[in-house]
Amino acid sequence: MKNSARLWFYFTVLVFSFAVAVSEQTFVYPPAQGDAKEISFYKAAPANWTAGRVSGQDVRNVIFCIGDGMGTNEIALARQKVVGQGGKLWMERLPIAGLVRTFAANHAVTDSAAAVTAMACGVKTKNGTIGIGTDNKTYASILEVLSKKGWRTGLAATSSITHATPAGFASHVSSRGSEEEIAEQMFNNRVDVLFGGGRKFWLSAGSHGSNLLIAAQRAGYYIVQSREEMMKLTSGPVLGLFADNGMTTFAPEPSLAEMTQKAIALLSAKNKDWFVPEPKFFLMVEGSQIDWAGHANDTDNSIRQTLLFDMAVREAIEFARMDRSTLVIVTADHETGGLLLPEDKNNASKVAADWNFKSHTGADVALFAYGPGAEEFAGVMDNTDIPKKIAKLTGVSPFPQEQPKMKPQISQSAPIK
Ligand SMILES: [Zn+2]
Repeated sequence: MKNSARLWFYFTVLVFSFAVAVSEQTFVYPPAQGDAKEISFYKAAPANWTAGRVSGQDVRNVIFCIGDGMGTNEIALARQKVVGQGGKLWMERLPIAGLVRTFAANHAVTDSAAAVTAMACGVKTKNGTIGIGTDNKTYASILEVLSKKGWRTGLAATSSITHATPAGFASHVSSRGSEEEIAEQMFNNRVDVLFGGGRKFWLSAGSHGSNLLIAAQRAGYYIVQSREEMMKLTSGPVLGLFADNGMTTFAPEPSLAEMTQKAIALLSAKNKDWFVPEPKFFLMVEGSQIDWAGHANDTDNSIRQTLLFDMAVREAIEFARMDRSTLVIVTADHETGGLLLPEDKNNASKVAADWNFKSHTGADVALFAYGPGAEEFAGVMDNTDIPKKIAKLTGVSPFPQEQPKMKPQISQSAPIK
């Protein structure tokens, strides 16, 4: 009896430890720092893995993943590297695919600001402009309208969190470079989870020269600045700033996949201290630096950044598959670098990377979708159609809609650190 009790004890300990080990298995960076060739972090999907289809559910959550500068050839190049030409990345395993046109109001080739205005607010605008139409009207983003309906909201990126793409979901500025103004608007918008770089824009931001980190803390935000602090969070709202400007995307920073996983956990949590009866959330995740690799014509880094993004997409898919009421959309704002894939001169069974520009191109981009309503995203569409479809699926009408002027909410002027 005594022995069997002891056995039970050991058995329980073993099972418990295993459960803890499984639940804590997180995406860990390779130790090598600054080496774009190091991609051992990538975990491919099992050969026969499919996401399946979901029908008959309402859309309760939306996870919108944007690979900045991620053209179809950038995807194909990363695919060849890790799963071979016949394989599929995680994003490519989603059941619905579409093709998206990216042109801006005044340019055939868009920048990220005009592209995000299209994808967040549903209107075309001039390059460089965020959240404001060519008619000079301010248009609400899909995040802002869902926030007004009581949804929790989140943004995660590997650039500064005030960079054009995340900015387009929570701010309205005539010039994308106004990152301090964008930080203030993001704060006033009370986005629940903000993970990324760009700490410096929050330290000095604000029309009163306020330190927005202090203002955010006073408003009830957790402020985290390291991976360890982020991992410990069990509740939002949170402002997580892990670099002064763009992130390095190397340890010890959190990875985009980890930021995505934590953001989803916080936004979907039913915490008493952050209570909403039925949490619904909108989360935008950006693989910001695929674009930067394209501008630099850096093949290794283009592959690495695309794979880092794909691991974040995997987090979104894994949550959505369990939840079954989450719509996951994966697309790009534009292509960068004019990447072509000619046959490799040394190995005819492979393609080589041939970069043609240091800038963006007007190529169409792919879109992948999973979850309730994903079928809406099949076929050829304009980038402005994406938020219109999300609005339709989440009961937002009309859309696009004008955004009422935001009142400045920072009353106390905090000392500048
Ligand atoms: Zn760019």
